[in-house]
Amino acid sequence: MKIAVIGCSHGELDIIYEDIRGIEERQKTCIDLVIICGDFQAVRNEYDLQCMAVPFKYRQLQTFHKYYSGQSVAPKLTLFIGGNHEASNYLQTLAYGGWVADNIYFMGYASVVRFKGLRIGGISGIHNNKHTNSGHYERLPYDEDTKRSAYHMRQSDVYKLMQLNGGSNDNESEIKQSLDVMISHDWPLNIHSCGDVDGLLRRKRHFLHDIRNNCLGNPLLEPLMRQLKPKQWFSAHLHVRFEAFINFTPDMSVQTRFLALDKVLPKRQYMEIIDIEPTEQSDSNDFEYDAEWLAILQSTNKLMSIDKRCSVPSLVMSRHSVSESDINKVKQLFDNDLKIPKNFKIQEPALNGSDNDSDPQRIRNYVNSQTVEFCKKLGITDPMSAIIESMKPLPNPDQISISDDEEDDEEEDKTDENPQKRHKADETIDGGDLFFVDRKGGDNPKGAQIDLKVNKLIENKNHNSNDIMTANTSADGLLTKRQQKRRADKVKKQTKQVETLNKIKTNNETKNQIKDNNITKNKKLKDLNEDKIVKKEIKAIIESNDKRRQLIIERLDWVKANLPMKDPEVEIEVITLDDLNIQ
Ligand code: 5GP
Ligand code: MN
Repeated sequence: MKIAVIGCSHGELDIIYEDIRGIEERQKTCIDLVIICGDFQAVRNEYDLQCMAVPFKYRQLQTFHKYYSGQSVAPKLTLFIGGNHEASNYLQTLAYGGWVADNIYFMGYASVVRFKGLRIGGISGIHNNKHTNSGHYERLPYDEDTKRSAYHMRQSDVYKLMQLNGGSNDNESEIKQSLDVMISHDWPLNIHSCGDVDGLLRRKRHFLHDIRNNCLGNPLLEPLMRQLKPKQWFSAHLHVRFEAFINFTPDMSVQTRFLALDKVLPKRQYMEIIDIEPTEQSDSNDFEYDAEWLAILQSTNKLMSIDKRCSVPSLVMSRHSVSESDINKVKQLFDNDLKIPKNFKIQEPALNGSDNDSDPQRIRNYVNSQTVEFCKKLGITDPMSAIIESMKPLPNPDQISISDDEEDDEEEDKTDENPQKRHKADETIDGGDLFFVDRKGGDNPKGAQIDLKVNKLIENKNHNSNDIMTANTSADGLLTKRQQKRRADKVKKQTKQVETLNKIKTNNETKNQIKDNNITKNKKLKDLNEDKIVKKEIKAIIESNDKRRQLIIERLDWVKANLPMKDPEVEIEVITLDDLNIQ
């Protein structure tokens, strides 16, 4: 089987497919699959550029949008992982992988897929110590931090891949190579030491510092390579072709061949055609799910987090590896048909052939129907759905249903006959099922209305308590024992409701206060940052020979002479020449 491996594609799909066509023609061959090792730039339109961290000069739409809208179709089945230049808002909707366009499949944060019997693993992103132990907490609108942390690799995703192959090769007479191919954007840490370091340094002199300090490459990928021992490992990111061989046995019989490729630019080594024989045979010409991987997604589902701080298992553990029986259960769930459905669909915000975009500021968070379907089938959590759920406003106690006495009595009569049902009804009272979610937001003046509810409940409660008192003291026993018990239960239930309502009221007030404080704090920080950027830009112009230099100096002199230092209306400091003495 022939695979065209590409380094960083930076949105140059037209060039890549054209080059492949040329190679096929010249070499009279047929390429089966294209693998792109990140910096893919699945930018659907100019608004998506807001969600991609990239220097200004590279902020371009490139060619992906044509493949997304259907104007072009990828002529070869294409598989890719994410790097550090991505429309993270779009990729984030496909946490477990999915089609970003017809024929173009994204591997998600981490995954394993099969193609014609070839077992291919992939992991997206680059290493940054700050977010290694975070959950996937980023949501729209991104700020300057989350725009970047969104593509930082998480240890939890590496951990999932570490569970492959039953979690270990230890104590086996024959060392198993779990994958045919593994793909990552950055290189495994210190991989340069297994190849021609001098040659690498001749081309990339500035790597010397990192090499000396043992920090060239990603420290999460080094243990992953040792664990998985894939036959081939493809990477990109450092914009240079580099080959290395990692031996796992003294006789070199178990080996990983590492190949990093350059970025798509003229005369650069950005593509290589690899001939690989799959370990297993398969008649399928489509991508297929890997059953062990799906079982691992199920076994690790509890580790999924959308919090910035969460607990992550150590990479030396393999507590979530899966058994043959787990794998068989997954196969049964899929009726033994693991073909990945070709279900690409344009998702919101959609261009729909016009220039209208429903979310130009990239504020709203969307789920992707592919992920929703996949998670439902497998019984796992879609991080994006969880994020949207977590952003819903607090429950609205106004919607609480307070049933009147008659209904309660009827219900009680029925439940009395059925102890199981009675138990269920009590659970509902204690739980949150009584409340409906207020989609309009929790900022309307609810306090008074909650008070009314509380008062009504207290009234009811007192009324019922009085009945009990009467029953207990009356000589002719107006209420039967059963009725007394019902009344007592009702008082208990209503007391609980009052407590719950009061709790929600206090919670709402505190949470809204915290939210307000956070919004003010974030806005101030943002203003301060923008202010710093403006100052830096002005300073750069003044220190250069830019033709605007004189104009700006004159303007700032005028500002100092004519304006107060702070504009009381807008609360923004006026910049003067003196202020520019900044770091
Ligand atoms: P990107 O296209 O991802 O913005 O940037 C890749 C460039 O950054 C390459 O030219 C590469 O040499 C450089 N680079 C990325 N990571 C490292 C690193 O860890 N150490 C060094 N020295 N350079 C890096
Ligand atoms: Mn990169």
